[in-house]
Amino acid sequence: MQPLYVRVHARDNVAIIVNPDGVRAGDLFAGGLTAAEAIPQSHKIVLRAIAEGEPIVRYGEVIGTATRDLSTGAWVREDMLRLPTAPALDELPLATATPADPEPLEGHTFNGYRNADGSVGTKNILGITTTVQCVAPTVDYAVRLIKTKLLPRFPNVDDVVAITHTYGCGVAIDAPGAAVPIRTLGHIAKHPNFGGAPLVVSLGCEKLQPSRLLPHASLQRLASAPLPVLADGPYVLKLQDQELRGFESIINAILGFAEKRLAELDKRRRTSCPASELSVGLQCGGSDAFSGVTCNPAVGYAADLLVRAGATVMFSEVTEVRDAVHLLTPRAANREVARDLIREMRWYDEYLERGSADRSANPTPGNKRGGLANVVEKALGSVAKAGTTALKAVATHGERVTTKGLVFAATPASDFICGTQQLASMNMHVFTTGEGSPYGLALVPVVKVSSRTALAERWFDLIDLDAGPIATGEATIEDVGWELFRFMLDVASGRKKTWADHWGLHNALAPFNPGPVT
Ligand code: CA
Repeated sequence: MQPLYVRVHARDNVAIIVNPDGVRAGDLFAGGLTAAEAIPQSHKIVLRAIAEGEPIVRYGEVIGTATRDLSTGAWVREDMLRLPTAPALDELPLATATPADPEPLEGHTFNGYRNADGSVGTKNILGITTTVQCVAPTVDYAVRLIKTKLLPRFPNVDDVVAITHTYGCGVAIDAPGAAVPIRTLGHIAKHPNFGGAPLVVSLGCEKLQPSRLLPHASLQRLASAPLPVLADGPYVLKLQDQELRGFESIINAILGFAEKRLAELDKRRRTSCPASELSVGLQCGGSDAFSGVTCNPAVGYAADLLVRAGATVMFSEVTEVRDAVHLLTPRAANREVARDLIREMRWYDEYLERGSADRSANPTPGNKRGGLANVVEKALGSVAKAGTTALKAVATHGERVTTKGLVFAATPASDFICGTQQLASMNMHVFTTGEGSPYGLALVPVVKVSSRTALAERWFDLIDLDAGPIATGEATIEDVGWELFRFMLDVASGRKKTWADHWGLHNALAPFNPGPVT
């Protein structure tokens, strides 16, 4: 392979090495640049000499200032950039360049499960919600029995999932931060993939009482006998109920209502639904310097296709948006949406400050190995997932998104916390990675897109789609974007399976709890 770099923007004075084995000192690029030293793949090469204190530019944006003189062809290491200050939140342009609504994209459908409340599922799952960690091992025990004894009799049901978590008691339940995990878990309990009728297992004495988890629902108590008749939920079983004597009786009660619910779920059938019924959560994890060049722009192209088809597309991860917020507030549908976005950035700035941290806490060692020097470079690559359409709405942490089009749903950047929080609203998940992650979720399909072909080849049975050929010019962003769009419709229809679902790789739920623990 000829020495090759990719430059994203004409203003850029650095570029990314494409060759999987890097380049050696003296290697000559087409166009005349010579590598001054060995530079690994995905790391930055200086395109023209940069003096100390001058800006280092990638994506057409300043990612740092040079801490020393950098000569042409040199390797730009992490310590050669000084982190710029984040864009000031009170000086941002508000809805000054709102994109016009794109041309509608008609005729794309998937076969989903339509629920009575109008929501659409992409899987058919028996979900058993828990209010508190104390009951988690008991529900896990019951789920193991349900899977072996009951599930084989209900072939139309995909899975049985215990919605377990570390929240529910020993917390300041009235503190403002408590609203975040409670909202998240409440929406997950009503996930469209569960058919819309939650089953809740509660201990009885916990702070997160079922009525607090599902405040607007008329909860119905499940007794151990006779077997409950289920119609529209939600139903609640309390382990401290006087009628339940001994562990076996507790397990039998859970199995009893699971059986009734499985019989109902087994009657669900996939029907043709417009692509507008998709609600796709976008996330990146284990990103590298290619993420912003290959997989994230391809996902951004697919995001535009979804928006054109009338679907909801959520991007998240506040700390990976913060340094690119000046590129997003102009794109807001109106000034109020722009202010909502700023509100979420400010909330997180203050949250980090309370923890004596700042945005330099992101990126990770793996991100840096993959050539990402700092959070500014990471954020500029990350927001490419958001495509080019207008930002229609902003949802706060754990809030359910109902708006169609592009939405910012505030979450931490941590993969498993972001994914948990997006579950409040999504029926499809797209995850981009450069360093690689076997991440997956039980509740929704997780489509994994790699930034580099080397990763897709090494993890051929974990990565669903390879965006690497964009870096070498063998594929275009449009090609991979369309491929991803079609793959999502196939997965949402149950025609194709993600690798995470093939292996059953399902991460634990990790609701974000910014409130105090007692
Ligand atoms: Ca992430």
